[in-house]
Amino acid sequence: MRLENKVAFITGAAQGIGREIALKFAAEGADIVVGDINLQKATQTKLEIEALGRNALALELDVTDYAKLTEAVNKILDKFKKVDILINNAGITKDNLLLRMSDAEWDAVLNVNLKGTFNCTKAVSRLMIKQRYGKIINIASIIGIIGNPGQANYSASKAGIIALTKTTAKELASRNINVNAIAPGFIQTEMTAKLPEDLKQKMQDAIPLGRFGSPVDVASVCVFLASEEASYITGQTIIVDGGMVMV
Ligand code: NAP
Repeated sequence: MRLENKVAFITGAAQGIGREIALKFAAEGADIVVGDINLQKATQTKLEIEALGRNALALELDVTDYAKLTEAVNKILDKFKKVDILINNAGITKDNLLLRMSDAEWDAVLNVNLKGTFNCTKAVSRLMIKQRYGKIINIASIIGIIGNPGQANYSASKAGIIALTKTTAKELASRNINVNAIAPGFIQTEMTAKLPEDLKQKMQDAIPLGRFGSPVDVASVCVFLASEEASYITGQTIIVDGGMVMV
């Protein structure tokens, strides 16, 4: 029970990697706030957490809307009185080649992935500063390190998250708040299910460990970073990609 009695707020936790982080954290003893734009699916995740014997709250939220986020944080405080851990996981893709990419595609991805991370960090870190305790984990991507054709918006947003992680870590370190990022490679979720089969095969061939990752591969590293075992780590980006990128 590495997260006993901690309260974790996880964005985009209705499905995929965020849902797996929520379930793994609950299994490690944490109470969970499932934040997602899709309340129906978020409520399903909440019920799964309660079945594990932990408390949970499902909140409908859009990480791009700062005013609504502060309302959400107030609801969390009403129920749990604190937030120990924030996982900035909500993210989207809208792929297109640079010359074809519309302003709308660029703005949507930057708004959810990068500004959403900024918004949630700002809304929750006020509280963590008062508590003199906090763990913030941002879900970036290896694409933010190596780039990828067709993902100018996504790669820029994820590179931005890695830089934001470093600055936030430096600003909050003196308040006993650790801020780290995880850069997953190819993880099997609904986000990657829609990719063409030939591209998937090409990607699998480029993975030294020879398999795609599963959400639990990311969630396990998240548990470590949120636990006291990682209390001397801050400002880092941990790559979880089966060896695709070695820096
Ligand atoms: P996913 O299955 O699409 O789940 C993302 C969740 O976030 C969905 O429930 C989605 O709701 C929700 N969401 C979208 N926009 C939101 C918003 N504005 N506010 C709140 N919630 C919102 O994706 P995933 O594969 O689990 O990815 C999770 C994170 O890992 C993302 O940041 C992604 O970039 C990152 N990542 C994934 C991979 C991978 O291979 N899967 C690799 C590297 C990094 P809707 O479905 O209703 O939109």
